[in-house]
Amino acid sequence: MSGVAKSADVRPDLDLATSLFATLGRITRQGRGIVRDSYGAGEQAAHDLMRSTAQAIGLEVSIDAIGNLSMTLPGSDRRAKHIIVGSHLDSVPQGGNYDGAAGVVAGLAAVSALKTAGLRLPFDVAVMGIRAEESAWFDVPYIGSGGAFGLLDPACLGVARSDNGRTLDATLRERGFDPQAIRERRRLHDPACIRAYLELHIEQGPTLVARGLPAAVVAGVRGCSRFRNARCTGRYAHSGAVDRPYRSDAVAATVALLHHLESVWLRQEAAGADLVVTSGELYTDPAMHGPSKIAGETRFVIDVRSTSEATMNLMAAEAREAAERIGREYRVRFDLGGTADSPAAEMDQRLRRKLMTLLEQPFEMPSGAGHDAVVFARLGVPTAMIFVRNEHGSHNPEEAMAIGDFAVGTQALLQLLMDFPL
Ligand SMILES: [Zn+2]
Repeated sequence: MSGVAKSADVRPDLDLATSLFATLGRITRQGRGIVRDSYGAGEQAAHDLMRSTAQAIGLEVSIDAIGNLSMTLPGSDRRAKHIIVGSHLDSVPQGGNYDGAAGVVAGLAAVSALKTAGLRLPFDVAVMGIRAEESAWFDVPYIGSGGAFGLLDPACLGVARSDNGRTLDATLRERGFDPQAIRERRRLHDPACIRAYLELHIEQGPTLVARGLPAAVVAGVRGCSRFRNARCTGRYAHSGAVDRPYRSDAVAATVALLHHLESVWLRQEAAGADLVVTSGELYTDPAMHGPSKIAGETRFVIDVRSTSEATMNLMAAEAREAAERIGREYRVRFDLGGTADSPAAEMDQRLRRKLMTLLEQPFEMPSGAGHDAVVFARLGVPTAMIFVRNEHGSHNPEEAMAIGDFAVGTQALLQLLMDFPL
């Protein structure tokens, strides 16, 4: 590293960050919430703002074939592998001001500080405004990051936007981008040239607020293994007339199965595993059920999430085994069906350890929601995430992130950049 400033003196440009958050909120608010529709006017306004800001700072700006924005601070060796600091600039309908945007603003606040301090890192740092991460508009997650690496199924081009019915293909062309890149699965960026991918994001649950911590290091992003169409078949009968040994009660059996899975969850949790298990849908048939009837059928979902593929596989196997056993006990038949799976992504061990040393109150936690970081991590790019405390959860107008907490996370990000190579 060259330059006059000592790295300890360099602080993220919080004036820039505060001004960007205020402008973003002003130009993309519709009613109570934020609307930065993927490849729509709201997302484009956010991209335009980041781009003009980057040009004012003196960064190199480029836009790939599907609209991802790279704002690069050149390093002393332009051919060295570069670091990407990124996140998405779209939001869900009536979302909040920080989900996604905080990561791009953090990147700009960090490189603006480096530039002002006259520090030249030995490699380029590219702040990336990624397109269309939210699946709310096209029902496809990670369009920007997946498309950047030729990973999207080209069939996604035919998916219609949830509100206006325009296909992704047509929408890309309207914005002047090239759907052919997705159709050909073209690689727009080379993962082998990326030293690391770093993403700061607001926490979307209550953990940091509850623990009184400003920021955390993300240990990994949870994957999901979901029995989407599980079913239990028993026999409808009179609730008063049938003693227990003769019942085939689908509700009782389903409750026993879900209760068993909760007991396994508690054991796994006690043993230190990362795991959440949810049954967010559980139905009897309203055409057949009744207050004086034993239910002859249930339909339900079992949603298992963990940062560990092994833990998810273990729970899925446990559910199948328990369904067999409990089915015999209750004289019912379970048909759990197959699982719909999305993979977990572990964050880079070395980057995690380093980030932990950069937080005054070090704390690690999993991410329950998916992020563009998953795409980079699964390509083998060393990937790390920082969570910043945020009240009221995310994907709603009440997202609330204090600039002081943002400063803690962004300082760790900036320090990590300055300490590379580790
Ligand atoms: Zn997000």
